[in-house]
Amino acid sequence: MARFILLGPPGAGKGTQSVMIAEQYNIPHISTGDILRANVKAETPLGVLAKGYMDRGELVPDSLIMDLVKDRLAEPDCEKGFLFDGFPRTVPQAEALDAILADAGIELDAVIDIRVDEDELLKRMTGRRVCRQCGAPYHIVNMPPKKEGVCDLCGGEVYQRADDTEETVKNRFKVYNEQTLPLTDYYARTGKLVPIESAGGPKDVFEAIIRELEA
Ligand code: AMP
Repeated sequence: MARFILLGPPGAGKGTQSVMIAEQYNIPHISTGDILRANVKAETPLGVLAKGYMDRGELVPDSLIMDLVKDRLAEPDCEKGFLFDGFPRTVPQAEALDAILADAGIELDAVIDIRVDEDELLKRMTGRRVCRQCGAPYHIVNMPPKKEGVCDLCGGEVYQRADDTEETVKNRFKVYNEQTLPLTDYYARTGKLVPIESAGGPKDVFEAIIRELEA
């Protein structure tokens, strides 16, 4: 059984690492950002509410996120474990997750915390691309799709997200530093925090994560 959270600033490569970790442990990868984007695209009531916050690089209110997470955790595939990517983002979300897990009588195994220099991240984020259809992550320099603009996995269109523009990116860092960084201390107190210094390419970071998880 593997129950993980992946923390890290915007652009730290959480999406890329999540796909690899979820495959390694055969667990579902739960990205609240991906779920929200799917809702925005389908114009569901949640999507309509969330869109403005997302476009400005602000956080979607905790209550909406917790409803979404509760529903997702109730799906049968989560019996195998799970990897949260982009959740929790605030201390109240972490507390609400603790309550859900305690009710279910289960515990987290590890909180992986990817650490990267902010200037390096800004550079990375301008190159970030994603598949509009399946959400597969790419980077124009580090991990381009085989054919420009086309997803290797599903053939969907590979594009730059609206919230990866410079102004929004800067706002996302501000939001991260103010609201999400305190989670590092929160989870350090549980003894489950696994800090990973991001060095080298995505594969090096992945290997460092697995080494730490298996240690
Ligand atoms: P991400 O793909 O994880 O970077 O998320 C993209 C955007 O979705 C964020 O900038 C937020 O607006 C919103 N979002 C995703 N996850 C959360 C969360 N756990 N809490 C609040 N907002 C979130």
